[in-house]
Amino acid sequence: MRVDGAHDLRSEYVVRVTGTVRARPEGTANPSLPTGGVEVGDCAVEVLSVAEPPPFPVSDRSDADETVRLRHRYVDLRRDRLQRNLRMRATVNAALRAAMDAQGFAEVETPMLIASTPEGARDFVVPARLHPGSFYALPQSPQLFKQLLMVGGFDRYYQIARCLRDEDLRADRQFEFMQLDAEAAFVDQEDVLSFISPAVLAATEAATGTRVEGGPDGIPRLSWADAMARFGSDKPDVRFGMELVNLTPVFAATELRAFQAPAVKAIRVPGQGGVVRSRLDALTDTAKRWGAKGLVWARVTGPGEIDSPVAKFLSAQEQAGVVAATAAEAGDLVLVVADERRQAEKVLGLLRLELGRPPVNEGGYHFLWVTDFPLFEGLDDQGRPIPAHHPFTMPHPDDLDRLEADPLSVRSQAYDLVLNGWELGSGSVRIHRPDVQQRIFDLIGIAPEAAQERFGFLLDAFRYGAPPHAGFAFGIDRLVAILAGEENIREVIAFPKTQSGSDPLTGAPSPLEPAVLAELGIRVLPPPP
Ligand code: ASP
Repeated sequence: MRVDGAHDLRSEYVVRVTGTVRARPEGTANPSLPTGGVEVGDCAVEVLSVAEPPPFPVSDRSDADETVRLRHRYVDLRRDRLQRNLRMRATVNAALRAAMDAQGFAEVETPMLIASTPEGARDFVVPARLHPGSFYALPQSPQLFKQLLMVGGFDRYYQIARCLRDEDLRADRQFEFMQLDAEAAFVDQEDVLSFISPAVLAATEAATGTRVEGGPDGIPRLSWADAMARFGSDKPDVRFGMELVNLTPVFAATELRAFQAPAVKAIRVPGQGGVVRSRLDALTDTAKRWGAKGLVWARVTGPGEIDSPVAKFLSAQEQAGVVAATAAEAGDLVLVVADERRQAEKVLGLLRLELGRPPVNEGGYHFLWVTDFPLFEGLDDQGRPIPAHHPFTMPHPDDLDRLEADPLSVRSQAYDLVLNGWELGSGSVRIHRPDVQQRIFDLIGIAPEAAQERFGFLLDAFRYGAPPHAGFAFGIDRLVAILAGEENIREVIAFPKTQSGSDPLTGAPSPLEPAVLAELGIRVLPPPP
C-alpha cells in the first residue's frame, strides 16, 4: 500500500491510516504485492503504537533460530506461514465440530484434574494443596470419562480435547496435543469408521479444497497383517510403491547360510542400482542399528542377472528368482533382509521410508484405516502381554477363549487412522463387561486390588448397566500439520514447547517459591549428580 506524504514510520509500528483508497496510477501497480494495485490518497496517519526493531524480520523468507522465534512468538505469529497454518487449524476444528454435530454427537467436556488414565505414557501430575501428599494426574486422554458418559446415557459423545503425555518430544509429538475424541453406544467398528471418515474428509476439504476420493466411505482399509506384510509398518505411507516382496520361497533350499531364515524379504529401489558402495555400507549399518542381522544388496544388471557380494553363493535360479519376484529391471537396486518375519518386515519398512518417502507436501492426502490389530504387541520382561492399545480394548469375540492360553494370537477390535505414513489416531470397541475387563487386568499383571484401586470406579459403573460402546480419537495437530505441508507440529501450534519441553516465551517450567512448596507439602531434592 502506498500512502501520501512523509511520515516517520518504522517496521512493525501500529498505525491508523484514514484516507481514500484508489487504484494506483497507470504503470505504478506492483502485482507482486497483495495490495500492489491500490494506494491511499488524502490521508492522515496516526501512530497508535511504536515498535522496537523486531528480533527477526517478519518475512517468511528469513529463517530465524527456533528459540528466538519461540521467545518472541507474538512476532513470529505475524508471519504469513503461521497466520495461514493457525487459520487452517481453526477451519479444521470448525469442520470437525460441524460434522460431528450433524451426526447427532454432543460435545461434553471432561475434567483436567483426574486420577490416572493409562495410554502408555507417563502422567503429568499436579500436587493437591488440600490433600497434602496426594496428586492429580492430567489426562492422557478422556478415555475413562467418555466410557463413563456411555454408561451415563450420552450415546454419542465427542470433544475437541486436550491430552497431556510426558514423553520425549519429536517432530510429531508435543506434551500437550489436541484430539477429536469420540465415543458412541450400541455401535460396532463399522459405525465408528462411518462417523469419523466423513468428519476427517470434511475437515480436509474445508482446509485445502481437496476432495479425497476413495472407497464407499472415502477411506480405504488395510488389515494390520497386510500392512505389515506389504509395507513393514502399521502406519503405511501409501503415497509411493516399493512394497515388500516375499522371497522366502525363492530361497527355500538355499545354500547361503544368511538366507536360511524364517523369512527372506526384499524391496526394490527403482533406478538406484548405481548408488555408490559407501552409501550401501551406510544403509547396512543403519539396518543393523534397527535390529537386522545384516542387509544384502543386489544391483540388477540385466534380465535375471545381479551383481551382489553374495551372488557367487546363489544359484542362477535363485538370482533369476530375486529379479522375477521383485519385478526389478536393469539399473534397479534390491535390498534383502533375512530374519524372523516381523523383524525383516520392520527393517525393510524403515528402509523403504528412508529411500522412498516423498516430502510431506507431495503426493496428496492418502488416508487409510488399519484394522484387525493384535490385542497384544509382545511380552514384557516378566512374560506378561503388553496391550497394543489401552487395556479397555475388546478382544475379537472368536478369540476370547484363547486369551490366557495363547494371548499373542488374540485379535482385538481396534483400528487406526493413518495419513501419509503418520498415525493420526486409534480407537476400538471397548470392553463393557466387568468379567472380561478383569481377565485383561489379570493377564497384564494388574492385580484385582490394584485394578479396584485404580479403575474401581469404571468397574463399578459397569455393574449399573453399561451399553456396548466403541470410539476413536485422532490428533488434530498431526492432521493440520500434514494438510498445511509442515513436517513439525510446532508449526501449527500457537505456543508450542521446544524439543526439550521448555517454553522460551514464558520461561516454563520454572522452580516454585519455597513458600509455595511448603504450602503444598513438597520438599525438592537436589538434582541428581
Ligand atoms: N483414548 C485413545 C487414545 O487417546 C483413543 C481411543 O481409544 O478412543 O489413543
